[in-house]
Amino acid sequence: MDTTPRSLATEAVHAGREDLADLGLHAAPLDLSTTYPSRDVAAEAARLDEFAATGARLEGPPVYARLDNPTVARFEDALARLEGTDTAVAFASGMAALSAVLLLRASTGLRHVVAVRPLYGCSDHLLTSGLLGTEVTWTDPAGVADAIRPDTGLVMVETPANPTLAEVDLRALAHSCGSVPLLVDNTFATPVLQRPVEHGARLVMHSATKYLGGHGDVLGGVVACDEETARGLRQIRFATGGVLHPLAGYLLLRGLSTLPVRVRAQSATAAELVRRLADDPRVTRVHYPRLGGAMVAFEVAGDPREVTAAVRLITPAVSLGSVDTLIQHPASISHRIVDPGDRQAGGISERLLRMSVGLEDVEDLWNDLDQALNTADRQPARTPVPAAR
Ligand SMILES: *Cc1c(COP(=O)(O)O)cnc(C)c1O
Repeated sequence: MDTTPRSLATEAVHAGREDLADLGLHAAPLDLSTTYPSRDVAAEAARLDEFAATGARLEGPPVYARLDNPTVARFEDALARLEGTDTAVAFASGMAALSAVLLLRASTGLRHVVAVRPLYGCSDHLLTSGLLGTEVTWTDPAGVADAIRPDTGLVMVETPANPTLAEVDLRALAHSCGSVPLLVDNTFATPVLQRPVEHGARLVMHSATKYLGGHGDVLGGVVACDEETARGLRQIRFATGGVLHPLAGYLLLRGLSTLPVRVRAQSATAAELVRRLADDPRVTRVHYPRLGGAMVAFEVAGDPREVTAAVRLITPAVSLGSVDTLIQHPASISHRIVDPGDRQAGGISERLLRMSVGLEDVEDLWNDLDQALNTADRQPARTPVPAAR
């Protein structure tokens, strides 16, 4: 293979597809088989033994769709190239990806996790509930080194974080982790804006449902990491069954090709909306990462729920990273599952709105926001916005 270093934009359209020309193909093939013919039982048994012992990707033809799939493998190869890791392991959703990482660490007896708030609401819940047998200590980035115990198997952080867009200095944090692996949820930044392994992270996870897919029509998750960690994750994926569907793998590979242009265009629009919101008397506070990006959070003087009720072009909906603009009220929706006291500790105000900026024209978006903010200002609150505890 040609090893000339290539830029991210080039990798986005070519990684995972290098063999296509030799196959006489141009678009990646979609393989929906659940099983594959095999006449040489002894050889197949040896390959299964090899997977059980090592977790290495199978050489040769696939065996069964829960074990491996060639379309999904293309997406994994491409994402690993974009994140700058050895490899990547794809899962049915972002939460399935996080679950596999937690199970892998707990299976080595290291059940303690140190995590920095805020995290995505369900990630917070999965850790706080201890559903997978892990125990969490919540801290801020400065407290990580002190929170680490002999049985700590993982440090987890999200930056920019969902939904406040708070940023963490990854290099300093990775240093505080010592030999404990650092997992960074890179869903918001994407490898276009930030490659956490370059700052010392061991594992990078994505809810691929968001920017990687980019069109709001595919659910998926992925962990980009070193080959040794990936072997354990593949064994857990095979044992627990949280596989990415091949059609989702196909759509995610296709989504990656436009990731750099989408993120750059959406970020430019987001930066302009931030400029206008920051100057607006109806808005009390704007959160926008120094890193940039297409996620914007802002606090309003009026009832935030009236803003989401009044938007017309923008869709009031959970999720993010799609080609169209979405807005939601984290305290009511995405972070509802987090205890109100913990939400407040994580900086998630009751007046906060989170907006995922799409590819629409900036003036059309601003017109919609402007009329929605006016409506919210005129409207007496239907029910009072709960005071933060
Ligand atoms: C959505 C999201 C998740 C969960 O991903 P799913 O694909 O919905 O399971 C995890 N982390 C972040 C930052 C998210 O936005």
